[in-house]
Amino acid sequence: MKETISVQDVLDRLNSLLALDRQVMERLFTIRFICNDAISQDPDTQVLQTQGGVKFGVVGLLNTLFGADDDGMGAIAAQYSPRCICNENHDVSGLSVNAECELCGGTVIVGNLVRFVRVAK
Ligand SMILES: [Zn+2]
Repeated sequence: MKETISVQDVLDRLNSLLALDRQVMERLFTIRFICNDAISQDPDTQVLQTQGGVKFGVVGLLNTLFGADDDGMGAIAAQYSPRCICNENHDVSGLSVNAECELCGGTVIVGNLVRFVRVAK
């Protein structure tokens, strides 16, 4: 058991889990829930603004462990391939997972999760 862990340790572990079972990791990391103002306004928390409300997911949770930088960005991001669909099955290829579908406002929920990366400054 580790008492301390770095951003790189988390990225390495996430990427190794992705290699072991891509499907479960993609499903796990596309789940988000509507959160309250206390969570959404926490300065170290990464949330997703959608038309349906502010949502909180696993990437946001992991980022709270390390806090936000001066620009309010977390350190960890899930990087997806350009082929993505929204929760209404529209092709939103080219948008990031943090984008909204231009046709329905839905959240980009499925992309081919390529890897977990450190957010570059
Ligand atoms: Zn859509």
